[in-house]
Amino acid sequence: MEHICLCFYISYENMTKILNIARQHCANWNAGKCIGCVFNRRHNKLFVSLDSDLSGKPCVVEKGCDYFEYVVIPGIADKKIKDSAKLLRKT
Ligand code: SF4
Repeated sequence: MEHICLCFYISYENMTKILNIARQHCANWNAGKCIGCVFNRRHNKLFVSLDSDLSGKPCVVEKGCDYFEYVVIPGIADKKIKDSAKLLRKT
C-alpha cells in the first residue's frame, strides 16, 4: 500500500515540476492556460499562428506538447532545467 502511495506521489511531483518548467519557460503560458501561438514552417518560411487545439485551454504539457518539445526545451539555457524537462516530459 505504501508503494502505491509513493508512485502517486512521484507522479504528482513530476507533473508539478514539468508544469513549473512550462510556467517559467514557455511564452505561451498564461496563468495556467495556453495562448496557443505556434510556429509553422512552410516553403522554407516561418509562420506564426494560433493553434485552436491549445489556445485558451489549460496547459497540456504533462500529456505531451509538441511546442514544449521542439521550441521550449531547446531554448532553455540552464542545463539542469533542460535535462529535467527532457526527463519529465511525456515521450
Ligand atoms: S500547452 Fe504547450 S505551448 Fe501551451 S503553455 Fe503548455 S507547454 Fe506551452
